[in-house]
Amino acid sequence: VSEVRVNDLGLSDDEKWLTDRWANDILWTIRVRRVLREVQSDYQRVQVLDTPRLGRMLVLDGNIQCAEADEAGYHEMIVHPALCRRGARDQIAGRRALIIGGGDGGAAREILRHPDVSRVDLVDIDAEVIRAARELLPRIWQRPHGDGPLDDDPRFHVHCVDGIGFLEAVKEPYDLVVVDASDPVGPGAQLYAERFYRLIRGVLRDGGAVAVQGGSFWYLPEVFKLVYHRLSSVFPMVKPLSCFTAVYPGGVWNLHLATLGDDPACVDEARAARLSGCQFYSAETHASAFVLPPVAMELLEQEPLALDEVSARVERLTAKD
Ligand code: SAM
Repeated sequence: VSEVRVNDLGLSDDEKWLTDRWANDILWTIRVRRVLREVQSDYQRVQVLDTPRLGRMLVLDGNIQCAEADEAGYHEMIVHPALCRRGARDQIAGRRALIIGGGDGGAAREILRHPDVSRVDLVDIDAEVIRAARELLPRIWQRPHGDGPLDDDPRFHVHCVDGIGFLEAVKEPYDLVVVDASDPVGPGAQLYAERFYRLIRGVLRDGGAVAVQGGSFWYLPEVFKLVYHRLSSVFPMVKPLSCFTAVYPGGVWNLHLATLGDDPACVDEARAARLSGCQFYSAETHASAFVLPPVAMELLEQEPLALDEVSARVERLTAKD
């Protein structure tokens, strides 16, 4: 846990604080009640912290991934617009979904909220993340209506392998792919390459869609641009959308939703209305999420930087001085 000089904050010396370095000149600090796990895996430092304000949170290499109090804002919006868009209406029953990354289980929980989904494959490279979520994040790693852990759902399957290798070996197509990857540094960088999106295109069924964690038009504009343009070079229809988050820089994060042609902003109202238990997703928030400010849309008209330059900038942005 990164210690802040608490006396600068006028706080007592015996408390623990986590500081997430949003940028090397912007720090975000939250009080920590207990460190529930801290382990160095083969890929990253994995922490689970218990905080008074946001509940339990997963932190990888010092970057907050998700927190119990607000994670639904992100996980509902990376899943439901793709499954409730009008273009998915004619999909056959028994839809299949693949999540690459997403080891906290939040996206899987939201996909399982759809009764016509017959299979969810969760592929996270790091078994330590899966173990931490399964053992210490029961409010995220759970079935949609809170009736037991994800593992109790026969539709749910976990694979602790690299997402690219998994895609190369896929035999049966999917209706939805969710790329819930960390930022383009470390093991996550390869999940931003054009080749990766082409592999996804190759495993999608007709009417399928891919939803991707897409940076922030404000805090990570180069990631926002890169994901949009890489997807656009593979898919005929790509639209950015926004979601609420308390723990990512700025409170609003961007996702990108790509389809084989249908407009993802068009809502299947009946299907959206059948979803129960959502805190952030509705037919209205589905439609409004795709309305981004002009400053964001103008960014997408610019050419993106190369992936290695984007990775280097993200590293520099959050590097300690
Ligand atoms: N929502 C978070 C965000 O926006 O940064 C991401 C959450 S999830 C915890 C990110 C996961 O991606 C991590 O658990 C990490 O282990 C996994 N990951 C990174 N690279 C991967 C790869 N090549 N294949 C599969 N999973 C990968």
